[in-house]
Amino acid sequence: MNIQMVDLYGQYMKIKNEVDQAMQEVIASSVFVKGGKVFEFEENLRNYLNVSEAITCGNGTDALQMAFMALNLQPGDEVITTPFTFVSTLEVLVLLKLKPVLADIDPGTFNISPEKLKEKITPKTRAIVPVHLYGQCAPMEEIMEIARQHGLYVIEDMCQALGADYIFTDGTRTKAGTIGDISCNSFFPTKNLGAFGDGGSVFTNDEKLGAVIRSIANHGMSKKYHYRQIGVNSRLDALQAAILDVKLNYLDQYIAARQEAAAFYDQALGNLPEIAIPERISYSTHSFHQYTIKVKTGRDQLQEYLKHAGIPSMVYYPLPLHLQEAYQFLGYKKGDFPVAEECSQQVLSLPMHTELSQEQLEYITNRIIEFYR
Ligand SMILES: *Cc1c(COP(=O)(O)O)cnc(C)c1O
Repeated sequence: MNIQMVDLYGQYMKIKNEVDQAMQEVIASSVFVKGGKVFEFEENLRNYLNVSEAITCGNGTDALQMAFMALNLQPGDEVITTPFTFVSTLEVLVLLKLKPVLADIDPGTFNISPEKLKEKITPKTRAIVPVHLYGQCAPMEEIMEIARQHGLYVIEDMCQALGADYIFTDGTRTKAGTIGDISCNSFFPTKNLGAFGDGGSVFTNDEKLGAVIRSIANHGMSKKYHYRQIGVNSRLDALQAAILDVKLNYLDQYIAARQEAAAFYDQALGNLPEIAIPERISYSTHSFHQYTIKVKTGRDQLQEYLKHAGIPSMVYYPLPLHLQEAYQFLGYKKGDFPVAEECSQQVLSLPMHTELSQEQLEYITNRIIEFYR
C-alpha cells in the first residue's frame, strides 16, 4: 500500500481538466504577473473569508514580514508569540529588529496560552501573534480582549488554518483569519489550500492597513515609480492564482475530507491509553492541516515501527524555537517553556490529506494498535 503524508497528485487528478484549462488560459493571455487572474482570486478569497482586504504575495513568510512592516513598529518593540511553531513566525520579527517574546502553549491544543501570554506583557509590548497550529484556532476571544486592554495589535498566523471556523461565545461564527488586525496565510503546496509552488496572502478588515500592505508588497510604490515607504517584491504569480482559484471552490470539501479522516483516526485510536488524540474545543472547528497525536512515551519507537510498515509520519516540531541554535541570542534556556518542550517530545502527525482511503486509514490505525499489543 502506497501511503503518503500528503497526496497532491491524487488531489490534482480529480480536478485535472479544470486546473489545466485555467493554466492554459493564463499562458494564452501571457499575463504572468499581476493581471486579472490574480485580482479575481483575491476577490474570491475576500468573499470566502468575508473580509474586506485580501493581498496575495509570494509566500506565508513574506505575508508575516509585510504585516509587521505595515505596523510602523520601532526597533526593540516587543511582540509576543509561541515557541511551538514554524520558524517563520519568529524569523521575520528578528529580521525587522523587533524583540520576540515567547509564551508557553496549552498542552491540549498546542496553541499559545492566554494566561502565559498575559504574564509576558510589558510597557514595550506592541503585538501578539497567535498561531492557529495544526488547523485549529487559538482562543481569539480571550486574546483580543487582552489586546484591547493593553492596546496591542493582533496578527494571526493562519498558515495552517485557512477554512477553519471560529465560534464566539455568543454562537456567531467567522472564518479563521478575520478576527485579528491582520492575518497571514500560506499557499505552500501542503497547506489546506496549496499551490503548485509558493504563495501566500494577507487579510485585514482595515482598508488603510490593506492599502499599505499592498504597497509594501510592490516595493512601497504609491504611483508608478514613486515610493512612499520601504517595501519588498512579493507576489503570487498568475499561474498559481489560476490554480488556487480553481481549488478554492473545493476547499470546504477538502476540509470535510480531512475531518472525515480525523474522525476515523479518533474512533480507531481514541481508546489507546498510550496516546492522546487531538483535543477539540468549543470555540473553533478543526481544519486538520495535521492530525497530531501525543505519544506519552516511546514516540520515536512508534514512528520507526510505522516507517517499517510503510507509513510515513512527521514530528512538527522536534525542537521548540527557543532551543534552536540560531535563536540562542534571545537568551532562553531549556526549561523556560516546559509545555512546548514536552510536546516536542510527544507529538506525532499521521498521514493527513484529502485522498486517504478507508483501506489506508484501516491499515495505518491497525499498525498503531498492533504496536501497543
Ligand atoms: C507554512 C507556515 C509558515 C510559512 O509559510 P511559507 O509559505 O512556507 O513561507 C508560517 N507559519 C506557519 C505556522 C506555517 O505553517
